Amino acid sequence: MNIELQCSKCGCKDFQHPDDLNDESTITCNDCGASAPYGEVREQAITKAKEFIDGKLGNLFKGS
Ligand SMILES: [Zn+2]
Repeated sequence: MNIELQCSKCGCKDFQHPDDLNDESTITCNDCGASAPYGEVREQAITKAKEFIDGKLGNLFKGS
């Protein structure tokens, strides 16, 4: 699954992050400068991706 990080403030997908990235690392939005722990942003991205997939499957299996 391809997880795309997204800034919760401005929606930008461009982040600055340390080379030794881990869940405790603080990543900073390149656009608005908001910073958050990588683990937190990743969790949000995973939740979003799951909701997207669930929505897709829901449509797929909704009887015709
Ligand atoms: Zn931002």
